[in-house]
This record gives sequence, structure tokens and C-alpha cells, in this order.
Amino acid sequence: MDRTTGFLHQDLEQRSWDEQRDEQARRLQGVIAHAAANAPAIGALLKASGVAPGDIRSLEDLAKLPVTPKAKLVDMQRENPPFGGLLAVPLDQVRRVFRSPGPIYDPQGLDEGWGWEEALFAAGFRRGDMCINTFGYQMTPAGMMFDDALGTLGCPLVPTGVGDREVQIEILRNLGVAGFVGMASFLLQIGERAKEQGLDPARDFGLKVAFTTAEPLPDTLRSSVETLFGATVRQGFGTADCGCLAYECHAKGGMHLASRAIVEIADPETGQPLGPGQVGEVVVTLFNRAYPLIRFGTGDLSAVDHGDCACGRRSPKLRGWLGRCDQLVKVKGMFLHPGTLQGAMRAFPEVTRFRAVATRADNRDVLTVRTEATAPDAGLKARIEERLREILTIGAEVEWVAAGTLPDDGKVIEDLRKWD
Ligand SMILES: [Zn+2]
Repeated sequence: MDRTTGFLHQDLEQRSWDEQRDEQARRLQGVIAHAAANAPAIGALLKASGVAPGDIRSLEDLAKLPVTPKAKLVDMQRENPPFGGLLAVPLDQVRRVFRSPGPIYDPQGLDEGWGWEEALFAAGFRRGDMCINTFGYQMTPAGMMFDDALGTLGCPLVPTGVGDREVQIEILRNLGVAGFVGMASFLLQIGERAKEQGLDPARDFGLKVAFTTAEPLPDTLRSSVETLFGATVRQGFGTADCGCLAYECHAKGGMHLASRAIVEIADPETGQPLGPGQVGEVVVTLFNRAYPLIRFGTGDLSAVDHGDCACGRRSPKLRGWLGRCDQLVKVKGMFLHPGTLQGAMRAFPEVTRFRAVATRADNRDVLTVRTEATAPDAGLKARIEERLREILTIGAEVEWVAAGTLPDDGKVIEDLRKWD
């Protein structure tokens, strides 16, 4: 069976990116007009921004509206329950309501899905594949999202949820399960448990494809699972509020933007869209009629890279999850993320602990990386500083401190600047 080529939405996915953007602009006009007329909070948002629905004609026009961060949505729902003035249809047009931590309530309109079927097809799931869906079915939408998507694809499934590993193993064997949906780390646990039982997952199970999301997928985790099961593992990116936003194809190298939503990368401070390759907040506009989210700030960081892909899909690729916005510190005009700093410091095995400290001197930012090392010397200091300049694109000074000086609180960047 060919699991590596083809498209679920032949016409959509193969269309040039410009044509896809034109189509999105047309759909955007419709959703803005509908939301402005039916969702009081969207009407108020446009009014406060001095924008009439007809002023939003292109995707670029979206930047006239502010980003609504997830935390703001929680406040809006608390102040104006239950949906914060964002519901744009009568209740008889609502199928389900999900509750995520916050709390935040996400209504799902009739016939409105989350688009994961496109991602599952790209991952290699095919009609007739017996599947297990190990995402939870209670309160939060993940279980339902994939239940829906597998049904659309024509894949029978067992709604296992995050059930007992032994039972998952029994189901994998007895039903000849070909597809797994859930977290890769959980699949790895299942495989390891099976090995303890004397089984060889690659030989004794018929698993062909696994789709994972909701956690980062390091190469080491992916290859462990792929080797253990002799299956292909692909990942997607989405949120509880938005559904599928991007997914890997067989060629990997990032996640193609899904055709079902407008994904922008925006400056986390100003909300203005950033260019290709720049790291910023993932901001989403959905075409949903029931619960139209307009420039919803996910709080997740990523970047979009343009370029051709061997699979034939024409949409650019999201680089994957690069951290959370609330961990960002802006130093010398650049956003600095703990993960970037950790990545840069990992190259020096002599370094045992470090903490970057942002301070202010003569009205300028100073970034000092207080560092404990086994053999601190001038040569190592120079090499670290060079690498930091390369990776962070801003200068940082290394300051040696004695072993045991730094607090053990896991904090990577500390902002000690005072603003008067
Ligand atoms: Zn591709």
C-alpha cells in the first residue's frame, strides 16, 4: 500500500501558495462579515480598532486588528459568560462544548471539524486502517478531534484514550492495529512494556503509521519509536481551540501549513506580522462560523519557512514548536528564548550550570551569562562568547562563578532591569 504519496485534498494542497492565499482572503471576508454581525465581542473589537468589516479585504489587512491572546479569552469568558461574546450562532447550531484548563470553553459548531484528516493522510494513514486513538475523550477536545478525523478518512478506530498499557498491547495484537494516534512518548512506553512481556513490537504488531502531537518530537524519540515498531512516525501542530494548523509530510523538514486556517507569525510585542524565517508568536484566524477566532494568539513560538517540498504540497512549513511567548525576554531589541540559550550552551560539556542575567547600564541592555564550569579559563570564555554572538545575534558576556553559586531553580534567564 502506498503510504508516502498522494493528497487528501488534491486540488487544495497542490494549488500554488498565492492561489491558496487568495482563497483564504475570500473566505476571510465572509467570516469577518458574519462574525462582526453575530458575535458581539468581534463587533466590539472591530469598532475599537476603527475598522469596518469591509476594510478587511486581504490577509495583510488582518494586521489592522490586534492579537487576542489566550489569557484574554479566559478573561472575556469570565466577564461575559459563557463564551465571552464570541459565539456567532444560536445554541441549536452548537454540537459540543469543550473545557480546557483556564478555564476556557470552546464551542464546536454543527459540521465544523478540526481538519486533522489532512494531516493523518500526509502521515500515511489510509482508508480501512484499523487505528487506536489514545487521546483523552473527556472535557478537552483532542480525543474527539481525532475520532472525527479518522472517521472522515474511513479508518475504523478503538477509542482507547490514555488507557492501561497492557490493554493497549492486547488491542494492538488482537485487532492488527495499523495506525496509532497519540503522544509518541506514550507509544514508546507501550513498546517498552511489550518488550518486557517478551514481545518484539516490530515483529508481533502490524503497526505501520503513528501520528503524534501535543508535545515536542525530538529526533531521538522519533527514531526510537520508529525502530521499535518498524513504523513511520509523523507529527502535527495544533491547539485545543484551533485544531490542526500544520503537519509533516513524508519528506519531513517542518510542517506544512494546513489549508483550513490563516496562520501568521507575529511579533509577540506589537502583534505585527513577521517575515519568513523570523521567530514569533503563532497567531491564528479560523473560518469557523460558530466560534470565529480572529487573530487568536496561541502563545506558542515558531517560524515559517518557504521553499519547495518533494511531496508536492505547496504551502510553506512551520518550523515546529520553539517555546512559549511568556518565556521570552527582549534584550538589546531581540527576543531571547531560554531554549535558544540552552541549545547554544549545550555545545560546551565543561559548563555545569549557567544563568543569563539581563541588566541595564548607561541606558543600554547588558546580558551576562553567569557560568559554572569544570575548567574555567579565558579560551573557553572566548569560545562561548563567540557561539552566543552567533546563535543569539546579540553580544553576551560570560562571567565565571564558583561551583555551587547559582541557585538550582531551573531558571535560565533572569531579568534584573529596572525601568523608571
Ligand atoms: Zn512536503
